[in-house]
Amino acid sequence: MRENGMSSPLNGLQILTWFLFPYFLIGYICLVFLPLLPNLSYNLPLGIAILLTALTAVYNGYRACTLNPIDPLLKENLEAVPQIRSVGGAGKKFCWVCQVHVSDNSQHCRFCDKCVHEFDHHCAWLNTCVGSKNYKQFFKCVTLVFTFTFLELVGFTILIVRWFIEGTDSSIRSEVKSLYGGTDGLTFITITIVYYVILFVTVTMIAQLFFFHVNLKRLGISTYDYIIKEARENQKRQRERAEKGKKMREEKVRIEDGE
Ligand SMILES: [Zn+2]
Ligand SMILES: [Zn+2]
Repeated sequence: MRENGMSSPLNGLQILTWFLFPYFLIGYICLVFLPLLPNLSYNLPLGIAILLTALTAVYNGYRACTLNPIDPLLKENLEAVPQIRSVGGAGKKFCWVCQVHVSDNSQHCRFCDKCVHEFDHHCAWLNTCVGSKNYKQFFKCVTLVFTFTFLELVGFTILIVRWFIEGTDSSIRSEVKSLYGGTDGLTFITITIVYYVILFVTVTMIAQLFFFHVNLKRLGISTYDYIIKEARENQKRQRERAEKGKKMREEKVRIEDGE
C-alpha cells in the first residue's frame, strides 16, 4: 500500500514536473524578463506575479502529493485487531482487495493499492490519488499553474509583438544584444518563438483541465462520477442504436415476407 505520491515507485511524469517548473521559470527570466528589464513599470509586477503564483503552485502540488488520501475507515480497520476488522464498524461497503469494510463513498485505487476517501482520480503527474483529503490542494495547484503559465504567455506576447512592431530600433533588440551578443538577434527570436509555441500548447492543455474541474464543481460531481456517467450514457446510446438496428432488420424481414 502506497502512502502518498512520494512512495515508491515514482513515475516518469512526476519526475518531469520537477524539471518543468525550473524550465518555465528560467525560460521566462532569460527570454522575457531580462530583455524587458528597462520596462520595469509592467515587467516587474508581471515577473513578481509569475514568481509568486509559480511558487504557490509548487507548494500546493507538493501538499497534494504528500497528503495521504486514504479512507479513514480503512485506516482505522487496518489498525484494529483482525477480529474487529471483519465486523467492519460503520462502513457498509466491503473492499475485496483491502479485505476490510470501507466508507461508502470510497474507491479502491490499483496504483496506490488502497481505498481512497471520496475518490476523484489517480493523478499520474502527482503520482497519487486525489480524494477528499487533497482535492483542495490539487485544485489550487491546477488553478495556479494555469494562472502562472497564462501570465507567462502574456509576457511572451508583449515581447514578440514589440520585437516585430518596433523593428531594428527596438530597445529590446539592443538589450538582447548586450545580454547575449550577436548582431541581428535571429537566434534569440527563433528560440523565443519555439518556446512560445510550447508554452501555448501547455497553457491550452492546463486550461482544459482547469475548466473541466470548474465544471465538475458546478455539477457537484467528481472526475470518477463523471467518467462513470459518461460510460453509462455511452452504453445506453450503444444499446439504443442496437435496438433500433434490430427493429429495422425485423421490419425489413416483415416487408420482404409480405411481398
Ligand atoms: Zn480497497
Ligand atoms: Zn491512486
